[in-house]
Amino acid sequence: MYANAPTPVCNEAPEEYMKIFEDVCRQKKLRITPQRLEIYSELARATDHPTAEMLYQRLSAKMPTLSLDTVYRTLGTLISHDLVHKVESTQNQARFEVQHLHHHHVICRNCNAITDLTWNLVDHTNLQGELHAWGKVERAHMVVYGTCAQCRAQ
Ligand SMILES: [Zn+2]
Ligand SMILES: [Zn+2]
Repeated sequence: MYANAPTPVCNEAPEEYMKIFEDVCRQKKLRITPQRLEIYSELARATDHPTAEMLYQRLSAKMPTLSLDTVYRTLGTLISHDLVHKVESTQNQARFEVQHLHHHHVICRNCNAITDLTWNLVDHTNLQGELHAWGKVERAHMVVYGTCAQCRAQ
């Protein structure tokens, strides 16, 4: 390992996210429907950056009338209100997470696991200087690819 190695992000309490959700919905006049609430709350509890199908499977016992199509549409609405992020992945299927503290991702090419990490060295690099001629930098997100310890042990 090298100095300034990335460290995993601790998870925030899910209740914190629900407060953010309610505040943003109120601000943006987005109606809090049972579907939006349940999908957001399931995603806030998840630490594995699930696909829409995974969310649908996790919620269908609790919400038997929920369709996969509704999960996709709801995720789209939540993304457009900056409550949910689509995450870069190695698969064709999109992966999602709730919008929270700025962080980066490590992706295992073998099992496709996506892990959060903080990386202060990257966050404190002045990209603005490097990219001044290119335009305005809004955010920088690093994706690290490799093979996780679990897969390597197999
Ligand atoms: Zn793996
Ligand atoms: Zn993440």
